[in-house]
Amino acid sequence: MSRYDYDLITIGAGSGGLSVAERAAAYGRRCVIIEAGPLGGTCVNVGCVPKKIMWFAAHHAHALADAAGFGFDVYVGGHDWAALKRARDGYVGRIVEWYGGWLADQHIELIRGRAHCIDAHTVEVEGRRLSAEHLVIATGGLPQQPDIPGASFGIDSNGFFALEARPARAVVVGAGYIAVELAGVLRALGTDTTLLLRKDTVLREFDPMLGETLMSALAADGVRILTRTEPQRIERRAGGSLHIERSHGDPIDTDCLLWAIGRAPATAGLNLEAAGVALAEDGTIPVDDYQNTAVPGIYALGDVTGRAALTPVAIAAGRRLADRLFGGQPDRHLDYGLIPSVVFTHPPLGTVGLTEPEARSRYGDEAVRVYTSRFTPMARAFSPERRETAMKLVCTGPEQRVVGVHVIGDGADEMLQGFAVAVRMGATKRDFDDTVAIHPSSAEELVTMR
Ligand code: FAD
Ligand code: NDP
Repeated sequence: MSRYDYDLITIGAGSGGLSVAERAAAYGRRCVIIEAGPLGGTCVNVGCVPKKIMWFAAHHAHALADAAGFGFDVYVGGHDWAALKRARDGYVGRIVEWYGGWLADQHIELIRGRAHCIDAHTVEVEGRRLSAEHLVIATGGLPQQPDIPGASFGIDSNGFFALEARPARAVVVGAGYIAVELAGVLRALGTDTTLLLRKDTVLREFDPMLGETLMSALAADGVRILTRTEPQRIERRAGGSLHIERSHGDPIDTDCLLWAIGRAPATAGLNLEAAGVALAEDGTIPVDDYQNTAVPGIYALGDVTGRAALTPVAIAAGRRLADRLFGGQPDRHLDYGLIPSVVFTHPPLGTVGLTEPEARSRYGDEAVRVYTSRFTPMARAFSPERRETAMKLVCTGPEQRVVGVHVIGDGADEMLQGFAVAVRMGATKRDFDDTVAIHPSSAEELVTMR
């Protein structure tokens, strides 16, 4: 008989927390999940899911604009943002509701409330104390705002999903995933959109080809991009508009200011000190390759660890942790090395493996060979705006192992998954060349590069 109430306590019912509990329960373990908000966490409620619905809406806007080139006489009367939001909220609500039944089916207990640690094996929620042999912290992250006067007049991505109407004008601040995705959506749905970058380009951690090509696409769509400038003071003016003073350049007046400058780990109030877990300087919970914290029996996974903040990463880490703890697979862990990722812009971009600069610094210029292709896809042959697809293969060594694949263009989001398998398996340029092309497609360029 165990001296603990449960085998596993998970704090957070987002992508990571749900996955570790599901797998542990499948091994017959007694699991409880504690959740302060709606089931599904960020991804389902204010992340991937509602974002992708907005991406589809923007996709339809682009398709309508392109349709005339294919002979259609299209009249677009307008776009009903409120109707889209109602449909989106309904869709998300059904997923959240489904999770409730699913947890019960998996025999996973759910406790509602905000948890904090009492010691390494005990947590408290709503005045109730629970103990477990294993404790997983999967509390995710929260959007950041800068520390400047009037910052709170702006909204973050959570606020974006709460918007009941399309803003006439919006200023988006940031250069990462959320900034470029939401700036593109706003513009496609008719908002006069400005993107403020504090440096020169977007997505600086990606292969430079992707950021540069995306900036051209955003500009072609009418997003005004202002570089090397940062908001310094925000004021609300009579009538409700916002007045943004910035470090360089004239002030900007707008109806909506959207901060997309990164997310911070959600550890406030967890009382991790009581459990002996110390936070890193940036607030993340340090873990090793096996999701172990420095305290035996306590693990962390997902966004709160600050490693590759993506839903499939949190899910994979959670499942592997449960396999290791309860499934008799002592070496099971997630390889964080080759994680594919897509940024859902228009066109979307996808990446797996090393960027060209990373490969050159790791293997040296001599060992690296790069293949590129840039073309107008047939689907865009009659588009009002020129819309290029760009691709890059990064290869190393005499055998030309493909260590990086980078694509921006229609279909990149669906294309990359299969190529990620090839890269993971160690495919060489020769393997790519020996693969018969699918024609006519954009993807065929990846196996026909010279
Ligand atoms: P979360 O999903 O954030 O779950 C943490 C949960 O813990 C929350 O439900 C929270 O309420 C709960 N919690 C926190 N503290 C406590 C406490 N003390 N007690 C009880 N409960 C607590 N990723 C992709 O892969 N693809 C995408 O397209 C994508 N789009 C995104 C778009 C946006 C706008 C955002 C913000 C994120 C997006 N992401 C995307 C990232 C993805 O959403 C996250 O990586 C993922 O949700 C992380 O899962 P998690 O389990 O670590 O945390
Ligand atoms: P990111 O970390 O992707 O980007 C934030 C960027 O904003 C920074 O890289 C920085 O770029 C810029 N920035 C930081 N501080 C400031 C500031 N004070 N003023 C102006 N710009 C600033 O964060 P996001 O919030 O966009 O997204 C968080 C994470 O969520 C992502 O990293 C990703 O892991 C995940 N996500 C995934 C998605 C997907 O899979 N499609 C979609 C959305 C989110 P610079 O240094 O160049 O200025």
